[in-house]
Amino acid sequence: MDASHIYKEIMELLEEPAPPPSKRLKRLEPSIRIKAILSDDYSKDIPLVPAYSCQLESKQQLQIVIKELSQKLPHFQHLKRVNDRNVLLCPTSEIEDTLEQHLERLAFSEEVLQALLRQIQVVEVPSIGPRLRTQYEKMLKYWPCKFHPDHYYESLQNGSNFSATQRTFHNQMAQLLEKLSTEINSKQPVGICVDPRGPSIVAIAGSQMDSKNHEHCPMSLVDFVARSQKGGALTTTEQFVEEPGEKLSGIPKNYYEYLKGSDAFVHLLCGAEVSRQSSDPIAGTDNLSKYGPYLCTGYDVYLLQEPCLMCSMALVHSRAKRIFFLQTSDNGALLTRFQLHTVKELNHHYEVFQFTREQDIS
Ligand SMILES: [Zn+2]
Repeated sequence: MDASHIYKEIMELLEEPAPPPSKRLKRLEPSIRIKAILSDDYSKDIPLVPAYSCQLESKQQLQIVIKELSQKLPHFQHLKRVNDRNVLLCPTSEIEDTLEQHLERLAFSEEVLQALLRQIQVVEVPSIGPRLRTQYEKMLKYWPCKFHPDHYYESLQNGSNFSATQRTFHNQMAQLLEKLSTEINSKQPVGICVDPRGPSIVAIAGSQMDSKNHEHCPMSLVDFVARSQKGGALTTTEQFVEEPGEKLSGIPKNYYEYLKGSDAFVHLLCGAEVSRQSSDPIAGTDNLSKYGPYLCTGYDVYLLQEPCLMCSMALVHSRAKRIFFLQTSDNGALLTRFQLHTVKELNHHYEVFQFTREQDIS
């Protein structure tokens, strides 16, 4: 047997049989998708501004022209100055009289002035630099620009930020929200707070049809998380799970019993890390690991409904790490009315994700 035959046989042995088509399809197309809600800076088209450009007679002139231009008209740092033989001069709004007078006033050398006043055109160029590749690719239609991709934001936008295991867990939480709402809470809103290190369910809360503002589901949820840290201020009729370690003290009994009696959810971990005696940090990569539980620091919050402004603010104050929601609300403050989490002036920012069904995005 010659070497090529042996090689072929080994390759055949190594080759795994392809999975049947139906299974492959299922893995590639989950029923629920998780979409990051990013600030407009990342999602909107970049506005254009009119600008003067000229066309040089030859590329040999470029070096001397660019040198003087960058000193005397230092505009458009986010754009490349040259597009083939075309050179960008300045925004048209910069010019009060004529372009020629303007350039003369800036005391360009005679040679450069001559080069710049050839084949003047007004072109539309992007007013700011791109944040994401999708914006960058759109901008290239107008004028070449500089682009330094932020890999984390790219992954948020294209959905590759979660591992398959994380994605499976988030999807389970979305399904659990729906089940708890329909089976336990008369189809009213429900929220779940999770310590993602387990991942482990720390607290569950629901609101009722006639709930007052301070009893909205996220408000109760934050309060029930505080219960798991020996706090909590709300008066509630809920009965909570009682066990000696008090790890389950943020989870009402009826929700806990549903979880433990359900084949689909019985495997989920429940319980919070109890507050530490000492405030001295221990080794860890984030504040939750270093300092132990404090409000919702490091925790993920899953909500059936997009929260209102008051609840979104309460989640900011509670230092939640990420908010996931399933349904939009007319008064929602994370997507529908505002994107509170994109307000730069706030002293804490969580990430926001929306669960979308396949039919919502097709
Ligand atoms: Zn609310």
